[in-house]
Amino acid sequence: MIDHTHDAAVSSWVAGADDHADFPVQNLPLGVFSTSGSAPRIGTAIGDHVLDLSGVAELLRGKAAAAVAAIEGAQTLNALFALEHVARRDLRRAVFALLTNEVHAAHCQAALVPAAQCTMHLPLAVRDYTDFYAGIHHARNVGSLLRPDNPLLPNYRYIPVGYHGRASSIRVSGGEVRRPSGQLRAPDSEVPVVGQSRRLDYEVELGFWIGGRSDLGEPVPIDRAGSRIAGLCLLNDWSARDIQAWEYQPLGPFLAKNFGTTVSPWVVTAEALAPFRVAQPERPDGDPAPLPYLDDERDQQEGALAVRIDVSLRTQSMRNAVMEPMRLGRTAATNLYWTPAQMVAHHTVNGCDLAAGDLLGSGTISGAESDAYGSLMEMSRGGTQSITLPSGETRTFLEDGDEVVLSGTATKEGFRSIGLGECRATIAPAR
Ligand code: CA
Repeated sequence: MIDHTHDAAVSSWVAGADDHADFPVQNLPLGVFSTSGSAPRIGTAIGDHVLDLSGVAELLRGKAAAAVAAIEGAQTLNALFALEHVARRDLRRAVFALLTNEVHAAHCQAALVPAAQCTMHLPLAVRDYTDFYAGIHHARNVGSLLRPDNPLLPNYRYIPVGYHGRASSIRVSGGEVRRPSGQLRAPDSEVPVVGQSRRLDYEVELGFWIGGRSDLGEPVPIDRAGSRIAGLCLLNDWSARDIQAWEYQPLGPFLAKNFGTTVSPWVVTAEALAPFRVAQPERPDGDPAPLPYLDDERDQQEGALAVRIDVSLRTQSMRNAVMEPMRLGRTAATNLYWTPAQMVAHHTVNGCDLAAGDLLGSGTISGAESDAYGSLMEMSRGGTQSITLPSGETRTFLEDGDEVVLSGTATKEGFRSIGLGECRATIAPAR
């Protein structure tokens, strides 16, 4: 629901917040941070600062009692996201009031920490992780490398295809991802060897953090499925293409994916995203209509997201030369063939339970053109065409020391744009 907290004309008393690219007061994303010598706690990003929500609990309690009870002393957002969305909405309104009314400035100052002094943590303890494959251009591009005559398999337009990922190796933005080793088989060889992956790739994705709870045996109907998405983040599903090529048949991704997944630290809530809901793009002529359990008129009208995502790369020598990362691609969430609600409805149609702390990846979000591709596999045409960087270096896949940065922005005319922050990690050499 769009309300006064989305009014683009409202400003915050926090210096710099109104002009901040990602975190004006219309955003108020939730995350977990710590400062030197202190335990992790829950905060919201406002401009270049983090407001410690425990530090202002007394000011919030009257208007958002349930939410305050779930975040006071908590080191993750799991308890908050287990509540009905009304609790998050009340919290948003109460925090918005604090940060827009100057009367509260003096009381809030002690709880306002410069973001540069904060260490960010995973926002939720990840209960389980599923990765979908809903970016149709990516599916077609990768499919055409493997099967030029038949890039999209017949199930693609019926099923939100996905697989169960690995929760234990999900890390928050800012760290390193170690180059994996595994079984590799050269195209001209019958037998594999074990060695370091030479075809290490990123995948540009959105992550959907689940809220509420549905029990085992209880499908979530499509008209309620959208309300189970509590918030959004950026997600990089690191992928070792050479390990993947040898292992993926017949059961799909395994060690090519589970060595690391990076997510952005701030959860942009479903409440903040209300103005940025857009219609799911029309299916091309000839595509089947979604089956009834995936088809909901309202979801088709407003179940997609007006979110743009950029991916940039910076090598070690670019860092040494103090060069900015080079943008490799700019894509949009409307390139997803399925809405998040359709993913939830499909995930639970067999009775699989979903609860707060579950994370769904969208699948790689590529656009139709090469400047909107979401992986190096696509940009380099399976490693056959190299990309030239401003340093003069070339890449087909990632080298040690390469830093990959995802950023994202939700934009709609008439509303203040809000950002997803950053999802960044650097490739460390294999052990
Ligand atoms: Ca993926």
